[in-house]
Amino acid sequence: MNKPEQSRLDLFIDRMVSQRACLDHAIALTADMTGPVYELGLGNGRTYHHLLQHVSGRDIYVFERAVASHPDSTPPDEQLILGDIRETLPARLESVGPIASLIHADLGGHNREKNDRFARMISPLVEPHLAPGGLMVSSDRMYFDGLEELPLPPGAVEGRCFIYRRG
Ligand code: SAM
Repeated sequence: MNKPEQSRLDLFIDRMVSQRACLDHAIALTADMTGPVYELGLGNGRTYHHLLQHVSGRDIYVFERAVASHPDSTPPDEQLILGDIRETLPARLESVGPIASLIHADLGGHNREKNDRFARMISPLVEPHLAPGGLMVSSDRMYFDGLEELPLPPGAVEGRCFIYRRG
């Protein structure tokens, strides 16, 4: 018998479970690093809240064009970089250089082709931010020239999350 296609609920659950597994894995792998963590896309603030609870000793900066998060999950003004990341990422690189220990991106909506086009466009803007040994976790496949794609940790579903490392 053919396996039924995954429902939208199945896909959503896979994405959430994978996001948490990959974030926890990447936080642990970068725990000895001191550079900041960048959250690209605040949304409701769920993954930002997870980072707040699990990252210690590192600042977390949030890049978002319009804040609409839960009050418990809203960054302080000094750690919010407001604007379109196509402008704020290059400006931030210019001012602080390649210092991020961990970058998490969850920027997409429901249209997979549009998400892929956007991921291709922003990959060269994200890549130079990582310090040596730094990791990037993304809900969309990214297109990096110099980063290595890592295997997913147990619990994450292939294709629902991606992890990259600067060697
Ligand atoms: N991870 C979040 C959570 O757990 O609640 C959800 C993030 S939501 C899917 C995506 C967010 O990315 C939206 O808030 C949207 O405004 C933001 N975003 C998308 N494109 C952006 C851009 N070009 N510049 C800045 N923010 C952007």
